[in-house]
Parts: sequence; C-alpha cells; structure tokens
Amino acid sequence: MKKLIVAVVFAWAAAFASAHAQDLTEQQAHDAMDFAMHDAVFTTYHEIGHLLVGELDLPVLGKEEDAADALATILLLNDDADDDSYNVLVDSADGWYFNAVKSTGAGVEDFSYYDEHSLDIQRAYAMVCMMVGKDPEAFAQTADAYDLDQDRRDGCAYTYAQALTSWVKLLEPHEVKQERGAAISVVYDDAGDFSEFAKELQQRQILERAAEMIASSYVLPEPITFRGTLCGEANAYYSSSDSELTYCYELAADMFGLYVNDIMSLSDEASSDDSSGQDQTADQGVEPKQRPMSADSRMVDLSGSLSDGTPPPK
Ligand SMILES: [Zn+2]
Repeated sequence: MKKLIVAVVFAWAAAFASAHAQDLTEQQAHDAMDFAMHDAVFTTYHEIGHLLVGELDLPVLGKEEDAADALATILLLNDDADDDSYNVLVDSADGWYFNAVKSTGAGVEDFSYYDEHSLDIQRAYAMVCMMVGKDPEAFAQTADAYDLDQDRRDGCAYTYAQALTSWVKLLEPHEVKQERGAAISVVYDDAGDFSEFAKELQQRQILERAAEMIASSYVLPEPITFRGTLCGEANAYYSSSDSELTYCYELAADMFGLYVNDIMSLSDEASSDDSSGQDQTADQGVEPKQRPMSADSRMVDLSGSLSDGTPPPK
C-alpha cells in the first residue's frame, strides 16, 4: 500500500481539477497532470513489486515496502522502451519529498515511525540514491538538489548494484523462456468526478504498459487484474486474495493537488522574490527539486546496467 501522511480532501482535489482548472495556465495544468501521471507509473511499479513477491512467493529481506520501491526504481531505470521513465523517477522522488515537507509542521509525534513504510523523506532519498547510483551523469542535477555529497554518490553505485543483482537473482527462475504464464487483464471502473484522471491514465496506457511488461517477462501462476477504480481514498494496493492490483483515481487527483499547491506555488514564490536577493524557499528549508530533465540531458546507456551480463529485469 502506498501511504500518504497528509490527509487530503478528495472532493476538493477533484473539484480543483475541473472547476479550478481554468485558474491554471494550460502549461501549468499540463505539468500538474504530467506529475500526477508520473507518480501513477511509479506507484503501479511499486505495487508490481508487492505483486511479484506475492504471486511468485519470493523471499524478502528487510521491509517489503522498501523492496517494492527498489524494484519500481530498477524497472524504470532500465525501461528503455519509455523515454519518459527518468522524468517519472524525478517526479516520484519529488512527490515523496514534498509530501514530507508538507507534513513537517505537523509535529514529530504525527509521524508513523512504526509504519510498514519508511518515512516519505527516506523514500525520496532512497530513490534518488538508486537513480544516482545507476546513472550519476543523467541525475547529477538531482543529486545536487538533494545535497548528496560525492562519498554518498559513490556509495549509491553499490546500493543500486546490490539491489539490482538481488532482484535479478530472485526473478531469474520466473522469467518467460518460451511460454507466457497467466494473463493480466486491465479494467477501468467508472471514475465519477475523477474522470479526467481516469481518461489520462487510459490515454497514456499506464496500466496496460505495466501489465504487458510483467506478463511478457515473468511466468505468473494465476490470472491477475490491474484495476483503476474509485476507492474513497488516495491509495493503491495489491491484494493476493483477489489477485488484483488496484490504482485509485483519487491518488492521481491528490498528486495533481500536491503539484499545484506545494510545488508550483513554491517555485512561484522563489521567482517572485528575486528583488530581495534572497531565496525565500531556502529560508523555509524547502527547496523545489529539480524539475524534469530535458530530453537531451537523458543520456541512457543500458549496456553496462548489469555487471554480470544478465539482462535487466523487464
Ligand atoms: Zn507498498
């Protein structure tokens, strides 16, 4: 399950997307939707981590939530069929970061230290570490924005390699050799007030692409459903008893709202405060992270992604 520390007013978020969309420029609305959809991609891959553990009966050392984050990051770092996957990762890390920033004022007792998930801020940094470990040049600006010093960047190369090797070893016996296993079907339920987000998910084929990637790579023992639906909360989950991965439309609205209220507004404050010569956001201890990289800054070389010559898990 994806945990969001801060409770969100879903009705507001839905209304924001429709009634207040005219208050945003077309570019801003586009950027916010991009951000929400990027998070949807990462979330789906995270849930796929849970799904593979459940369906393939894989052992897990440490927190399963951390392992699922690691797999999602690895899959996206090695998804050379999607030239947007690096932007997905940057936005998803920023999502955790800004969720954490948003909740910082809530008081230390409000954090769920006993939660099955690591804290949002830890999830953000763990992701960035893997990204920098895999591709230090492409993610150099991200590493700067997250203040990773050179020692840590070097250490992240090991962290990434270890996570990659571990997942590849676990998944290798389940790889599709000749025959595929059980199929994954994709279903979109009625989205009510959240139809804009459901439409966007479908247009981008987010669940379909993830389903095809998994079904074509690993032999699944039983049929699975990937479902987009209304849940009554901003969440996503895998249920082994239902053989189902669920993405809640409310989560997309939630991330859209996070972008508009907590990321876009901070950038605006920073740029409107130029005359003082001070970085207002830095004063608040809040730094908008590097926004998605331009296409030409993403130089991906997958040839060296696995030191032992095993193909990446795809
Ligand atoms: Zn999870």
